[in-house]
Amino acid sequence: MYRLALALLLATLVSACATSPTGRKQLMLVSEQSAISQSKQAYVQTMGKLSSEGKLVTDPKILKRVDTITGRLIAQAIIMRPATNQWEWSVQVIDDPKEVNAWCMAGGRMALYTGLLQKIDPTDDELAQVMGHEISHALANHTAERMSNAMLSQGLALGVGIAADSAAVMAGAQGAAMLAVMLPNSRTSETEADRIGIELAAKAGYDPRAAATLWQKMGKVGGSGPPQFLSTHPAPGNRQATLAALEAQMTPYYEQPGPRPMYQLVRTPAPTPAKNNAPALR
Ligand SMILES: [Zn+2]
Repeated sequence: MYRLALALLLATLVSACATSPTGRKQLMLVSEQSAISQSKQAYVQTMGKLSSEGKLVTDPKILKRVDTITGRLIAQAIIMRPATNQWEWSVQVIDDPKEVNAWCMAGGRMALYTGLLQKIDPTDDELAQVMGHEISHALANHTAERMSNAMLSQGLALGVGIAADSAAVMAGAQGAAMLAVMLPNSRTSETEADRIGIELAAKAGYDPRAAATLWQKMGKVGGSGPPQFLSTHPAPGNRQATLAALEAQMTPYYEQPGPRPMYQLVRTPAPTPAKNNAPALR
């Protein structure tokens, strides 16, 4: 029984050495494709539940703002990594005023919490830095990297008590996919997401100077502790200096004249496959 359970678990794992967009070597226990499909199931389940509880924001003004900013960032993400036009990009705004957070799973499924909008009160440029940063974690396959860790620790736990059915393994993998966006990133991943995020945002027409002001605002949010966003995105020691240096590099992208391409997001509380595959670049 134990061997069968382990075999099933291992069947979902692929050992590989990958390279991130900034050239860093990553050890991958979960293939990106597997991370994407597990993330999708976890996302559909989570959003379906939140939707039935009335916790997904439906205010068209808020959604239009989020879709515009995110849509412009996604268009740039697809230019940077063309294969991601196959991703089922989507974003939901979760009504949770206490949660100052946002995330993007493997495969481009995102969430933004009302707590971030209310407590940070970001400008469009600052919100673009948040979502650009989140998209970058997915683009650089950090989600699969974190999922590998989560699955490994869960797998060890599963191996002991598992009833050797594949459903339990699936639940474990989906759990890991959800956990992967809730666990802190490594500081190396943070540096990488900062670097890619500010570039996506600048190319999408958002002021790179907003990266510095965003992190300052994050640091000032009071309450019972640091915002969730800071816990899941720990500061690399030289964040401010690195961002300041990047600002100058990114300004030419930001100042480029002309309209920016926009990815047309389709919002479905419980996204279904094969609906949103065609990239809607204008
Ligand atoms: Zn981050």
